[in-house]
Amino acid sequence: MSTPPLSSPPPSNSARQLMTELQSFGLRLVDPHAGAASRRGGAGPSDHKAVTIDGHTIMVPVHTSTAWASPFVADAPDATGSSALKRGAIPIARIEFPKQPRFYSMQTMDGVPYGHIATLHGSDVLATTILQTCIRYESRRKACKFCAIGQSLAAGRTIAHKTPQQLAEVARMAVLLDGVKHMVMTTGTPPGDDRGAAVLAESAFAIKAAVDLPLQGQCEPPDDDRWFDRMKAAGIDTLGMHLEAVTQAVRERIMPGKATVPIERYLSAFEASVKVFGRGQVSTYILAGLGDTREEILAMCETLVALGVYPFVVPFVPISGTPLEDHPAPDSGWMKSILEPLGAMVSNAGIRAKDIKAGCGKCGACSSLSQYEN
Ligand code: SF4
Repeated sequence: MSTPPLSSPPPSNSARQLMTELQSFGLRLVDPHAGAASRRGGAGPSDHKAVTIDGHTIMVPVHTSTAWASPFVADAPDATGSSALKRGAIPIARIEFPKQPRFYSMQTMDGVPYGHIATLHGSDVLATTILQTCIRYESRRKACKFCAIGQSLAAGRTIAHKTPQQLAEVARMAVLLDGVKHMVMTTGTPPGDDRGAAVLAESAFAIKAAVDLPLQGQCEPPDDDRWFDRMKAAGIDTLGMHLEAVTQAVRERIMPGKATVPIERYLSAFEASVKVFGRGQVSTYILAGLGDTREEILAMCETLVALGVYPFVVPFVPISGTPLEDHPAPDSGWMKSILEPLGAMVSNAGIRAKDIKAGCGKCGACSSLSQYEN
């Protein structure tokens, strides 16, 4: 697999603008099989495909209703893997699609395809959802309306519980064969007070015994702060606890189950976990476009940055098959009006994407935020 240089030069203003627009509008593909398989369903942002522009790989929606009406269209790749990107009929840039990783052709000793255990995100990130079930998702009344964690399981593209041994085997081979640089482990929330911290810790322990790979764990705040020390001791380098929305009204409307954990608990968990993982090594996802205003998002980001937390603001992607599939994706001008001041905010606080050891903030493919940092 070809990977971009470790530190690509900063993008030009026009490339940055194009990335923000592509993530809002999405992209139509003349050849839907170009590059690595697109991602459908699963936890977190989905229905998108990795696209490399100016040496930077971003995830661009391709399977959403917004994308089908996008003004952007990519021609089929030529023999070198490069495609013409057009706005309407006018060519505006050359883009590339990261290739299908080699580890996808293998299967575990117990017969599970590696791609059902973990997938390639961006250009060099291995990502897995350890538990593909979630206490929130089991009831329509409580489920997060943007989430598709059950879709890939129902379609047979993944398994319900990836064991530590399976994860270690796949991680080792993804490093050896495809040169992945870090790994994201998220999980559906299991019953119990640890909220997934235990399964993250046991998985990290097995992976770190097999391969030297920086790891991010993602879960809801556990009830007991001592889980942060345990996760760190097990080999987790960075932690993500995802607010998703920043006001209680939007949280209750969009994610009624998860909203029962108050924002105050997130803030106290951020404070405790930054003491363990370090400034800038704890992050949170904020989905822009679900109802929070620009001012509300930026005010929460100020609070988070003061705590040493990296606020990874991403444009909401309306995933097909979810209750929000027809909800509009946010306008690119509105996204820019958040990402520009936020890029300056995190840069001034010294908690930039490039300083993060592992995870979504470091990968940066789901948001053009890092392109606005200096
Ligand atoms: S930002 Fe996170 S969810 Fe998005 S592609 Fe990168 S690792 Fe995957």
